[in-house]
Amino acid sequence: MNSSEQNTKDTANNDERLKAFIDEVSSFEGSGLAVRVDDVQKVYRMGKIEVRALDGVNLKINRGEYISIMGPSGSGKSTLFNMMGGLDKPTSGKVYVDDVDIAELDPSELAWLRCRKMGYIFQTFNLIGTMTALENVMLPMAFAGKSNDEALDSGVDILTRVGLGDRCKHKPTELSGGQQQRVAIARAFANDPAIILADEPTGNLDLKTGQAIITLLKDMNQERQTTVISATHDHKMLDVSDRIVWVADGRVDRIEKRKDVEIEVGKVVE
Ligand code: ADP
Ligand code: MG
Repeated sequence: MNSSEQNTKDTANNDERLKAFIDEVSSFEGSGLAVRVDDVQKVYRMGKIEVRALDGVNLKINRGEYISIMGPSGSGKSTLFNMMGGLDKPTSGKVYVDDVDIAELDPSELAWLRCRKMGYIFQTFNLIGTMTALENVMLPMAFAGKSNDEALDSGVDILTRVGLGDRCKHKPTELSGGQQQRVAIARAFANDPAIILADEPTGNLDLKTGQAIITLLKDMNQERQTTVISATHDHKMLDVSDRIVWVADGRVDRIEKRKDVEIEVGKVVE
């Protein structure tokens, strides 16, 4: 067998493996957990200085939940976000997405997981400046293998859903902050992911716009049963969260259910 035949065979084997993996994770019911974080530590080393950003985090997130990860600046929220999103690797410990240990995935499986199972939303929107709102939303659909026509139709639908049906052709600079975040939300939901990860999604928005974004995320969570995990220190998020995970110094300080928080808030008001 010459080397080009060998390459073709390797590619076919990889495709088969990826297909088997996709079939397995697509049909798997498992524990009902969207994400499980098992004793995760993350140590950043900068020369001689060690920063322990996560120090033994354990967390179980059910499918369909709306979770807020709350804590002060520097407490490890973004680091945890990166671990759960498969964007960075823990120093030790495990992260499972739909019961799959993401450290075990090869690059193509991890890319598939990031593209199809996850949607990401960031504080600074992270839209591509040279592309229109619609093109930004169509991009992950193209990566997922949708035809251009299909992506176009779904893109217009989802932009309409987030209230921007009349802004499809606008570029990010021609949109307000709140509108840009709506485009980013549409993009995150483009491939109908199981999990949305948001890192300070309201951090760059005024109070009223931030509230509208929170309401939109909650509505999408309810409509599509998408698990939403949001790192935030915006207390407006408390109202819509099923559970709040309070982090401090790289550890989970406590986990509260919304009804308990409401009782606490009630007590404060009295
Ligand atoms: P949060 O999102 O809650 O503000 P982060 O997860 O960004 O917190 O940061 C947690 C800690 O880890 C902080 O002390 C921060 O300075 C440190 N840290 C975060 N990212 C890095 C990095 N890439 N290199 C070194 N230290 C980092
Ligand atoms: Mg952060």
